[in-house]
Amino acid sequence: MSFKLQVGEMQTEYLTDKDIWSHFNYIFSSKSKNSTTYKFVLIKSLLENLYNVDGNLQLSYSTLFNSFAKIYWNLVVHHRLNQINMVNKKSEVQKVLLDIQEKYQIPSTIVFDRLSPEVQLEVVLKVKRKCKINVMGALYGDTQATFYDFDNKIEQLRFSPSYYSFMQRFQRVLQYLTNYQLALFLEKFNTQGDTTNLLVRIENVSKRSSLDQFYRVLSSFYNGTCFYCGKSIKRKEAAHVDHFIPWSFVQADQLWNLVIACSPCNLSKSDKLASGLYLENLIERNDLFIQNEIGIKEDMEVYTPEKLQDLYKFSIDNGFTDIWVPKSII
Ligand SMILES: [Zn+2]
Repeated sequence: MSFKLQVGEMQTEYLTDKDIWSHFNYIFSSKSKNSTTYKFVLIKSLLENLYNVDGNLQLSYSTLFNSFAKIYWNLVVHHRLNQINMVNKKSEVQKVLLDIQEKYQIPSTIVFDRLSPEVQLEVVLKVKRKCKINVMGALYGDTQATFYDFDNKIEQLRFSPSYYSFMQRFQRVLQYLTNYQLALFLEKFNTQGDTTNLLVRIENVSKRSSLDQFYRVLSSFYNGTCFYCGKSIKRKEAAHVDHFIPWSFVQADQLWNLVIACSPCNLSKSDKLASGLYLENLIERNDLFIQNEIGIKEDMEVYTPEKLQDLYKFSIDNGFTDIWVPKSII
């Protein structure tokens, strides 16, 4: 099967967990062809976008490659890491990104979310155009055409229901495995570069440097009180944008999962899950967002209350079992 395949149809709809584990074992083994980090970054991007699918488990390339391009920008430009298993060579994605960096004279200190919206868009479009040709067919081939349907022309993929459910249930373990494999590859082929704290850097490669953009949207629908304890928040600096389902699990910043919390609540909640009562409150809050057409269009388009309930349930299944409540409630 050619990895340059441009359209792929799913061969089987139903797979057991054992079948899917065997595919992942293959991808992460030396039997799978990994001359670059593409497959690992694609899996990482798919995991980040599990809850950005529509009702038919379809995911647009614009959403998928936003994660893919962001991860690569931070790895290649920000951390200056080589992505191919050859010395003195560059992978296609490296060439694209370094060209853009040079064109606009962007310093390496700048992470993806600090780029202007126009440059971000250019990065995503160019990375998508170049990489979709090689990456979509490669992972599809490694899983014997069972992971997803894809079409590089209409730029959409559809998860197989078995794979989708598997990834929800084993999301955290798959994140760990992918980060480990990516770190291993990068450590091996970056003998000249700085690989200190590589695994920690990879774990945080998708983290935004600021959630200000979301604060602006959230505060347009905000009565000045903490989502959790209800106390009033007097100063903007004391208002924290909090991931209701912890970031360490979702690794994504969807508006429907973000709330404004006071600083003591935000700090004590940390990466714990808030009690079910707050889940109900968040569903109500999101209903109001939809009714009032508040928010970022693409985020709210794929949102459903069931999706948030699923995410909550799967966080517990994936080990987020410490349930948090605020110290005092008004
Ligand atoms: Zn609070």
